[in-house]
Amino acid sequence: MIERTLVLIKKDGLERGLVGKITTRFEDAGFKIVGSKMVQVDEEFAKKHYTEDLAKRRGEHVRKYLTEFIKSGPVIVYVLEGVHAIENVRKMVGETEPRAARPGTIRGDFAHVSYAHCDNKKQVVKNLIHASADKKDAEYEVKLWFKPEELCSYKRVDEVHTL
Ligand code: UDP
Ligand code: MG
Repeated sequence: MIERTLVLIKKDGLERGLVGKITTRFEDAGFKIVGSKMVQVDEEFAKKHYTEDLAKRRGEHVRKYLTEFIKSGPVIVYVLEGVHAIENVRKMVGETEPRAARPGTIRGDFAHVSYAHCDNKKQVVKNLIHASADKKDAEYEVKLWFKPEELCSYKRVDEVHTL
């Protein structure tokens, strides 16, 4: 039941100075940071993260906007560990469209734009954060972003109560 999931704080989150606030939410919920770094990716890497599958689901234009966005500045990357971490972290992140994201979620509390607005402006939906969608994506993404030796194991002092 203990899983690992990949989280990116995207350019808007970093440049708005929200890294601390976003990170604190995961730490407060008891998730353990087992991998962490700041990375500047290139086009080739961006396309490995935002795969053909995204283009099939959302359209080639979305993949293009997103790869441009993600390579235009550094991102913060975490691997978070916890019980049902993949599902629980997605729940804390909220809906993809900030307009639909509930208050209390990261996207609902720190953004509000709609698909229509972003389509009009021909820009990516700036929703601060990426989190692996399911088990298969989490495995692929953790391997893509981190070498095995970059992931660490340790005990949090509150584990006696959070796990
Ligand atoms: N996105 C966008 N326009 C769309 C749909 C998605 O700009 O119409 C962006 C948005 O930033 C989203 C990312 O593409 O976070 C990846 O899309 P996905 O469907 O995987 O959503 P997520 O898993 O991030 O909620
Ligand atoms: Mg996704």
